[in-house]
This record gives sequence, C-alpha cells and structure tokens, in this order.
Amino acid sequence: MADVIQLLPDTIANQIAAGEVIQRPASVVKELLENAVDAGSTTIKLIIKDAGKTLIQVVDNGCGMSETDARMSFERHATSKIRAVEDLFELRTMGFRGEALASIASIAQVELRTRQRKNELGTRILIDGFQLKTQEPCQCIEGTNIAIKNLFFNVPARRNFLKTNTVEMRHIMDEFQRVALAHPDIFFSLQHNGSEVMHLPPTNLRQRIVNVLGQGSNKKLVPVREETDLVKLSGFVGKPDYAKKTRGDQYFFVNNRFIKSSSLNHAVVSAYEDLLPQNTYPLYVIFIDIDPARIDINVHPTKQEIKFDDDKMVYNYLKVSVRHALGQYSVTPTLDFEQEAFLNAAIPQRNNWTPSYNPQHTSGAGSDSTASDVPSSGSSFASNDDMQRQRNNLEHWETLYEGLDIFGKPEEDGQTVTLESKFSSEPAELNDQNRSFSKQQKRPYQIHGRYIINQIKSGFWMIDQQAAHERILYEKYLDIIEENNNTTQRKLFPQTIHLSPSDATLLNDILSEVIKLGFDMEAFGGDSFIVHGVPADLKEGTKEQEVIEQLIAQYQQNLELDLGIKDNIARSLAISAAIKRGKKLTTEEMEVLVDQLFACAMPYKSPTGRKCFVTFELNDLEKRFAE
Ligand code: ADP
Ligand code: MG
Repeated sequence: MADVIQLLPDTIANQIAAGEVIQRPASVVKELLENAVDAGSTTIKLIIKDAGKTLIQVVDNGCGMSETDARMSFERHATSKIRAVEDLFELRTMGFRGEALASIASIAQVELRTRQRKNELGTRILIDGFQLKTQEPCQCIEGTNIAIKNLFFNVPARRNFLKTNTVEMRHIMDEFQRVALAHPDIFFSLQHNGSEVMHLPPTNLRQRIVNVLGQGSNKKLVPVREETDLVKLSGFVGKPDYAKKTRGDQYFFVNNRFIKSSSLNHAVVSAYEDLLPQNTYPLYVIFIDIDPARIDINVHPTKQEIKFDDDKMVYNYLKVSVRHALGQYSVTPTLDFEQEAFLNAAIPQRNNWTPSYNPQHTSGAGSDSTASDVPSSGSSFASNDDMQRQRNNLEHWETLYEGLDIFGKPEEDGQTVTLESKFSSEPAELNDQNRSFSKQQKRPYQIHGRYIINQIKSGFWMIDQQAAHERILYEKYLDIIEENNNTTQRKLFPQTIHLSPSDATLLNDILSEVIKLGFDMEAFGGDSFIVHGVPADLKEGTKEQEVIEQLIAQYQQNLELDLGIKDNIARSLAISAAIKRGKKLTTEEMEVLVDQLFACAMPYKSPTGRKCFVTFELNDLEKRFAE
C-alpha cells in the first residue's frame, strides 16, 4: 500500500494550534497585551470594535521590531523570549511559546506597524489568512501597533460559536483588567466602539485596584506582605464584611502572570476561617513572586495554570500570610502563641515542613482534593459552618425547643385550609389530601436556620428557604418585566452610586430592563448613576449600591448561560434579593413563604436548579423505623 502520512501545511497546523490558544476575541486581547508588556511598554492602548469581532487593536510604545523580526514574528515557534529549554527556568516574560501571532494570523486579517527607536522608518505588514500580502517601510511612531480584523473569518464554526457582544466584551474586560492589575506602573486605556471605557494612569497597586474595581474598593483592602528567601507575597485581601455573594474580584498573579488555582483560593478562603458570612467570597489581589525554576507554567497553552514544585509550601505560606494580615488589621482574633511562633519560623524549610497551623484545614493542600473551593460544599468548610451554627444555636438555646409540640399533636383536625395553587398538572405529592391541613396546629417550623418543615397529611415537606424564595422572586420579577407592572418606591433624596468601569458598561447595556423592574434610575456620566427609586418590595434598608452591584455580579455570572436579558435580570435580582440560609424566620414569614412557593408555576426547583423542597412520606418513614 502506498504511504499515506503527510506533513500538514503550516496554514493548517497553525489553525489547529489556534484552536487551543485563541478561543474568542478575549484570547487575542490577552496575547497582544502580554506581548506589549513583554516589549517593555509604558503606555498600552487597546481599541475594540463590536466586542472584538470586527477589530482588536493594541498600540504600545515598547521596543518595536526590526523589519525581519516583524515578518518572523508570525512564524510558528518564533520567539525572542527563549532560546533554549533552560531559559524556561528563568522566565520573566509573559510569552515564550512563540505561537500566538502565528495562530492569530491564520484565522484573521492582521495589520502590523512597528518601529524600533533607532530606526527612522518603521515597517508595515498586511496578512490575510496567513498569506503575507504586503510588507513595506512606513512612517510610524516608536513601538508596535497591531490590528486584528474579522477574527475567525475563515473558521465559520468558531465565528458562529461566539456569544453576544455583551458576553464577549465581558471576557475582554476580564483579560484587560488582569493585565492592568498585574502592571500598575503601565498606563492602560481601553476603547470600545469609539468611547474610552477604562483610563488607567500609572500608579501604585492600591490605586490601580481602586481604578479597576471601583472607588468603593479602597476601604475594603487589607495589605498582605510576607517575604522569605523563596517566596514573596504581596497584594491585598478584602475585609470579610465586604465579601460578595458572587465570586468575582479574585486574582492571583504568579510572577505577574494571572493564574487560576482552586488550591490557592482554598488557602485564602480558609485563612478567613469563620469570619466570612456563609456563601460569600472575599476579594483578593495577591502577587506571588517565586523563583521561576520552582514553577512550571507550561502546563497549558493559555498559560493560566501553574505547577509549583512544592504546592504545599505555597499553600501554607499563603494561608498563614493572609491570616496574619487579617489579624494585624484586627479583623480576626489575635493569633495565639503557637501561630505566632509558626509565622516567625524560618518558613520555607522545604520538605521538612510540618504545618503546625490548624492542621485540619491544611490537609490535602495542593492536591486535587482541595479543588472544591465552594465553601458550602467543600468538606473542610463544613466544620467551620457547623461550629458557627452551634454557636448561634447556643446563643438562642431556648429556640431549640420552640414549637417542638407540633409534632406531638395527634392528627385530629381543626379547621382546614387549602393552598391556592397554580399547578396545571399536579404531582403525586401535591394531591388534594396533602393540601388540606390544619393550619393552626401544624405551623411550619424552621430547623438549622435554613429548612422549613411543613407538615402535610401524608408526611411532611422539608423546604429549603433560600431556594424557595429565589423561585418565588424569580417568577415574580419575570412577570414584572414582561407585564411592565412594577411599583417603584421613590426616594426622598435621589442617591448617586458609583460603579467600577466594567460594571457601569454592563449596567448601561441592560439599564432599560432594569428600569422595568422598578429601579427608577439614570446614567449620570462617568461610572455614576442616579437612583430615584427602587422596586417597592425590596427589603427595608436595602442599600441601592449593594443591590445593584449584586444584580450586576449575578448577571455577569449568568451570561454564559445564554438566558436572554429578561430572564437573566429576573434571575439575578431574585438570587440577590432572596432570603439566605441562616436567616431566622417568624412563623408568619414561613407561612407566607410556603403559600407563595406553592402558588408558583414551577415550585420544584430554584432558578439555579436546586430543589426547593423534598417530600417525606409517612409510609417511608415507618418503613425506616421498621428496618
Ligand atoms: P511569544 O510572545 O510567545 O514569544 P508571539 O507569537 O506572541 O510569541 O510573538 C512572537 C514574537 O514577536 C515575540 O517573541 C516578540 O519578539 C515579537 N513581538 C510580538 N509582539 C510584539 C510587540 N508588541 N512589541 C515588540 N515585539 C513583539
Ligand atoms: Mg506572546
């Protein structure tokens, strides 16, 4: 048989490689910004049109490229950043794989102008789908100006796969913010469709964080700084009382490169111990400087994952440092002697390192088992939660006995009430006999501050109060948006709120729908908004700024789900406004909640897919006792 194996032409090989490195416009932004940083620029401008689908342009004032280098830069594996494998162990640049420009050039049209300081003329290159169309001398300013047009024009599958402009722009902002936070000494600006969305003058880290995350963040920051011969930690963590309901402003930079790590996240979160309110996420911007020989950044083409040669050491050091920082700012109980001694010890004695600090939290550090960084489900968090709950319970010990008699009462009925419900087809557990029950004697009852026990004829329902309330509010808000029958509670004095630039951009996109919900508000220039009124049913004393920030954060989180604006907004407000687990409810509140839940069109699941209630049948219970 004839030989069948052939080498792929470069064009195809690059397109395949591009599939790994360039998933969306934001990936191009990341690569171009990193190249500009590597070129030693002090000013970097990012210009975007149509969320990067039409144009992504980066203009820097870095070292520029020679005529030959400019052409070479688009070759695969062409890099000026490493020459040999050993260089990887001394890596201080963002790039090194030499594949970004080659990949980008294979799936877009590229125009590059670049000039080195020593040259009078620069060079201009035009590439179209990996074909070099033109290279000619040109007049241009020192540095590099690269424009990527019509990304994925020749890969329709990818192009069609792109999300809405709001989603893609969100990803671009994320990448931009990461690079901007990592390099506060560089001037950055971001323009979208002709208007400047971010303007970040060179400054220190604290001010850069404030410029990126919004004015309000300043008062939330606690500095972290610890140094040993092996690792240097610096940056800020957020005070626990400002922790958000949604994950968001959490950044790790290892040698100035943004990385994702559930294990490091776990280290930080566990340093807070029980200071964090349940289901909240602290803010952090933490820089870890470490000898490049001790890490492997080449784990994945996008270079956002990292391996430390001693994961456990970094984990522990990070945890202790964050705890120390929180302690110094007296937001946590002072460290006891043992912990102090531990902090002062010559920490990174690698290998003979024994974590004397809170061992139950550090077990499994650095391994995959710590990857569960969701506090509510992470097993190592359970003990904290439990302790907190026990403490709360003990404080109100008498409530432990409250209402216990309801289970003792026999079944003879007083007056019966029927729940109004909108069910079209009723499931077995909601049949008629269950819907009649004695309201007086079988009042709902709360356990663990999170579940409502509601007795029904054939057994009882255990209702998750948070999931149930989310469902109720979600249906209500959806109704309001669709019917436009909101009621606004007007403020005596309009409030001005200031958002971060990226939140402001997003809010402007969805403002008309948010107004429909009953928020009477308008843009007030810059990143500010004036709030004249809020939806009438928002809890008394709710702060506008907080609700809106939470709404935006939720909205962002849901963007990936392609819900459509209305659905997403209804969901987001429902999730942010719903009562939370841990909130003690009065009997009346529980009754209203139960009634409203079963008046919902779809009472079974919360908008995020959690069950709202579980039915326990007497028959089944009896069987269990007979086992
Ligand atoms: P890498 O960054 O991994 O080296 P790239 O494909 O991103 O690979 O870039 C290839 C080369 O092009 C770089 O090594 C660098 O020499 C050059 N280059 C790219 N962008 C710039 C820029 N903005 N300024 C100066 N040189 C650049
Ligand atoms: Mg690069």
